[in-house]
Amino acid sequence: MSTITNWAYGATVILTLASGATMLMASGAEERERAAVAQRTVFDQLTATLEEDVYRLTEQARGYAITRDPSHLIAYRRELQDERSVEQRVSHLKDAGANETELAALRQALHWADALTDEQQAAIDAASKGNDATARTILFGDEYGRELDRVAAQVGKFQYMLDQRTSHAVERATDSARQWRSMSEVMLGITALLFLCVLYFVLKQRILRPVVRLSDVVTRLAAQDFAAVPPDFSQVDEIGDMAQAIRIFRENGLERQRLEHERDADRTMRDLLSRLTQRLQGCATAGDLVDVVRRFAPEIAPDYPGRLYILDQRRNAMVQACEWLSPAQSQVEFAPLACWALRRTQTHRPNGEMIDIPCDHLAGATGLSTICIPLAAQGENIGLLYYEEPAVSTDERRERTGKYLEMLAENIGLALANLRLRDALRDMAMADALTGLPNRRQFDILYQTLATQSRVEGLPLACLMVDIDHFKRFNDSHGHDAGDAVLRAVGSALGDSLRDAGHAFRLGGEEFVLLMPGFTLDQALERANQIRHHLQNLRVEHRGGELEPVTASFGLAAFPDHGAPEKLLQTADAALLRAKAEGRDRIMVATRRESSAVA
Ligand code: GH3
Ligand code: MG
Ligand code: MG
Repeated sequence: MSTITNWAYGATVILTLASGATMLMASGAEERERAAVAQRTVFDQLTATLEEDVYRLTEQARGYAITRDPSHLIAYRRELQDERSVEQRVSHLKDAGANETELAALRQALHWADALTDEQQAAIDAASKGNDATARTILFGDEYGRELDRVAAQVGKFQYMLDQRTSHAVERATDSARQWRSMSEVMLGITALLFLCVLYFVLKQRILRPVVRLSDVVTRLAAQDFAAVPPDFSQVDEIGDMAQAIRIFRENGLERQRLEHERDADRTMRDLLSRLTQRLQGCATAGDLVDVVRRFAPEIAPDYPGRLYILDQRRNAMVQACEWLSPAQSQVEFAPLACWALRRTQTHRPNGEMIDIPCDHLAGATGLSTICIPLAAQGENIGLLYYEEPAVSTDERRERTGKYLEMLAENIGLALANLRLRDALRDMAMADALTGLPNRRQFDILYQTLATQSRVEGLPLACLMVDIDHFKRFNDSHGHDAGDAVLRAVGSALGDSLRDAGHAFRLGGEEFVLLMPGFTLDQALERANQIRHHLQNLRVEHRGGELEPVTASFGLAAFPDHGAPEKLLQTADAALLRAKAEGRDRIMVATRRESSAVA
């Protein structure tokens, strides 16, 4: 576009110069016209004096011939003196621009005028000598008159020739001046037209069109349409400044929009995390927690496959609880030491490009970017979140997602810790701290369940009450610790004796109870005997020494032999009392009397 403009500029300049030149030419022609007119005036004057001179000399000579007044003579002589020679006059006219033909005509006239002067001289001489008649004859005669007319005619002819020529010259000069003037006017017109075209072109190309484009962009930007890209006007002028300002405006708008999107995405993510937290708080078991994590984790980081591990304390192993989006790496179970995040209780993030050490629970160096986030409670690792980062991701996104994953891990860790705490509290509430056996509370729950089940389904159920004989003596003779050691040993023996075919409980003090669902009375009695012998053979170590042998008394009741399953405990207790009463270290099966008494 600039090339076209430059060409147009160039053409305008050339045309302006050309029209200037034609104006100069026109003015030259006018000058010539004026000169021609001036020349004609000069010729007119010169010829007019010539004619006048001839007539004035004639007048003075005639005046003298008639009056013989010397003043006429003096005047005549002065006129004659003033009159220049023929050559002088001719050269004067020649200087003024007369040509040879014209000058020849003039010379002829002057020659004839000189002849007249000779005759005037002769007449004056005659008059001076008193010969008036001769003088008059000469000056007033027909001859003289004819000669005078001849001079006048010759001067007229000369004038006519001059007139002819000068009027031609004037005409030519006028024509040429008019032509140059017209040409100059046309040139000026074309220049003005071209100039207007250039102006229009420049206005349209350089101002109007850019302004229209810019205003279109501004309108779209104002309507939040940031796909509108401002044109790249690099010129250093107001339009360029405007384009630059709009570019900055758009960049700011884009940045603001990006921040808004980020804020919205962040808000959505925080909503999701807060919903996750609420759901986690509602989890009653680890299974619930795993379900929640499996559902929420892929939502929080949509292209981050991962796994959740929970510590199995008994085996001291991280065991996979769930996975999402099919992770490629990491074993389903591994020792906590195999993970650098667990070793350091800190997020471990070996990135593809950076030198770092991959965890042992990964198959090997794969170039995969992984994230291990430990789930900790009171400084102890209770689980692990494992993630695989997508290969295509921006630093900014990595960082943001990393932040969300940390928050997720924190929430899961907290929920897991709460569950563990709850389990621990429940265990504490349900288990007996000393023997590790379930306590009275758990007995009540299970007893009720088993009793109902037996009654509804008609299944046998046996209840064996156990009470250590003379337990007080252990306390009294060896101290409370010895008593505790005996209780632990008996509790452990009772727990092991059932081999998963029943449930042992510590009811309190040195009293235990065994519930054996599915056991008939005979089967239960056989098992009771085994236990009794087992206790008789029990050796309890205490402070390097061995305590006295332990014996216990047993009371046995069974459904359906001894009535309603809900009354078995009391019936068995009655049988136990009888065992104590009859000398201890024995098993007493409840009697019908005992059972009906309880009923
Ligand atoms: P019996 O043969 O008639 O059952 O006599 P016993 O001494 O075993 O029974 P008794 O009811 O007279 O005494 C029970 C004692 O057990 C009383 C209490 O101090 C003691 N005891 C209860 N709980 C514990 C405990 O947890 N540890 C210890 N060391 N002693 C306990
Ligand atoms: Mg007792
Ligand atoms: Mg006792």
